[in-house]
Amino acid sequence: MIATKPASNSVLIVGGGIAGLSAAKRLKANGIPVLVLEGRDRLGGRVHTIDVAGDQTSWIDMGAAFIDDHQTNSVFHLLNESGAEVRPTPVRLFGQRLFDQRSSRWLGRRASVSAIGKLGWRFHKLRAKSSDFASLHERITAMLGARPKREDVYLLRSMLELLHGGPAENTHPNVSAKNYWEYLNYQEKGTVMIKGGYRLLIDLMSEPLLDSEVVLGQEVERISIAQVASASPPAVVETSAGTRFEGSHVIVTVPLGVLKAESITFDPPLPAAKRDAIQRIGFGHVEKVALTFTNPFWRSDPQKPTDFFHVPDPVAPHGMFIDVSPVAGSGPGDLGAPCLTYICGTATAQWVADNPDAAVAQVLADLESMFPQTFEPPIATVCSAWSSSPFSRGCYPYASVDTRPGDFAVLGQPTHSGSILFAGDACGDGTFLGNVEGALVSGERAADAVLDSFALTWPERPHG
Ligand SMILES: Cc1cc2nc3c(=O)[nH]c(=O)nc-3n(C[C@H](O)[C@H](O)[C@H](O)COP(=O)(O)OP(=O)(O)OC[C@H]3O[C@@H](n4cnc5c(N)ncnc54)[C@H](O)[C@@H]3O)c2cc1C
Repeated sequence: MIATKPASNSVLIVGGGIAGLSAAKRLKANGIPVLVLEGRDRLGGRVHTIDVAGDQTSWIDMGAAFIDDHQTNSVFHLLNESGAEVRPTPVRLFGQRLFDQRSSRWLGRRASVSAIGKLGWRFHKLRAKSSDFASLHERITAMLGARPKREDVYLLRSMLELLHGGPAENTHPNVSAKNYWEYLNYQEKGTVMIKGGYRLLIDLMSEPLLDSEVVLGQEVERISIAQVASASPPAVVETSAGTRFEGSHVIVTVPLGVLKAESITFDPPLPAAKRDAIQRIGFGHVEKVALTFTNPFWRSDPQKPTDFFHVPDPVAPHGMFIDVSPVAGSGPGDLGAPCLTYICGTATAQWVADNPDAAVAQVLADLESMFPQTFEPPIATVCSAWSSSPFSRGCYPYASVDTRPGDFAVLGQPTHSGSILFAGDACGDGTFLGNVEGALVSGERAADAVLDSFALTWPERPHG
């Protein structure tokens, strides 16, 4: 059955997240016909903003939420040109409020300054000896010394595991060295959030595409490339619904978690170097619980948004609460309702994805224990499920203890004589890794590679 018959020179794009949309936008702007095949019934992938209470005042990002270092971030500039409003992040790395479950008391701002300060104090010394550590866990343990405070262990693990997505025991020891200064510079560099959420970026990126150029609800299961060089069209994509699409090239933008699970068959198979890189690079677990309330009962000053941590007993890779009210309105000028996001990583995140009801109950119990006098039940809650979704199987890529230099580059390389290209947040490098900007840039790069191949084979480009 052929549901849609694209021109045989269409470029088939598997995945309608930022990488897929940026590739499609670039190709279309250059006159190349495209068809985006998306497994979910919506575009955006790991960018997903939900109006939690359904009243246009509680738009909360369940996936990407921050634009880091916004002055140099192309995502910010795209949104800025479209008139979107951004707000500085409420997250502060110095002076976060910490509530200790064991003692049932607030630890005061000095506790978090002390933990971050310790990391900084030992940073240079440890960097030189990085080869002595087998994992980020060993590095943190050495930083904290023989008898660390509970809140220090908790804070450093939570922050680093949220940043990288992977458990400290499986994270490469050098990642903290590379990213530590970014941590400290967050405020100076200016991390921002988007008023009304990241959905504004999806609207912007999908605007040039016609309905006929996007097919939703099509889970791709097989990608095959004709063995005969002259075969036309060379690429065939088949979905779980039995639908078959043909095109000149395929750009694969599915998350690394999907590639790891091998739920898409490649014929001929992917080269061994690519398969090894896919397995060696880590893909972490981060989930969110979004909550909207009538009153911001967690604030000491009702006008001042605030963020805080709950240090569990025993110390576990727990998360933090972020007051996202300032960006929860529907767009520029609109006021948001009092909203919190609870964000957690690794084992806790996997538990949240599998047990959303229990997770919401736990988060509410924690809030009540922190604010016994003022706590109020929420109006509405939503839990993310990135780890359990077959379309993501995790949150974002990280350098695991097994990852080798060059693995991310190998992941981004085309295969099958250039007929299959790869894009997505794991195909970037350096600062372009595991984030929206990385996905955006990787999609443009894959589109450019297709354009280059057309320039080589077709003196005149087709116009779609
Ligand atoms: C909880 C969380 C918090 C984050 N926070 C931030 C942040 O603050 N800032 C930031 O910059 N980044 C953040 N990120 C990372 C950011 O969301 C991603 O890096 C980016 O959205 C990845 O885009 P992508 O296009 O590469 O992948 P995706 O957005 O995952 O797009 C891939 C698409 O492929 C589709 N797909 C999968 N399998 C199939 C299949 N078999 N057939 C067809 N379609 C398929 C998926 O449904 C999806 O739409 C966060 C991510 C998560 C999960």
